[in-house]
Amino acid sequence: MGLCVMCGRRIESGMQFDGASVCVTCFEELQTVREMLRAGRREVGGLKIAWEILHKTYSGGDLVIRDIPEGLVNKALRRADKDGESLRDLTVKAMQAYVG
Ligand SMILES: [Zn+2]
Repeated sequence: MGLCVMCGRRIESGMQFDGASVCVTCFEELQTVREMLRAGRREVGGLKIAWEILHKTYSGGDLVIRDIPEGLVNKALRRADKDGESLRDLTVKAMQAYVG
């Protein structure tokens, strides 16, 4: 079990696309983008495509948060799993709720 390199959601059944671990939804998008690139005679690996889509979609940058209480992280991860979301999704929702 890992995280989708395109959307950051937890992957229950791992799918690989040229070395990129992606969820079912993103797998379909990845195939569509690859076919468009091939039509334009551009051959690009799945992992590179996945990272490009991720960075275009979420261009706000990366955030590293250190020294989070272990109990809080574990509770958040369990809740995210239960709700079918990623820890990233929860963090973004908390930020949205904070700024209104
Ligand atoms: Zn995904």
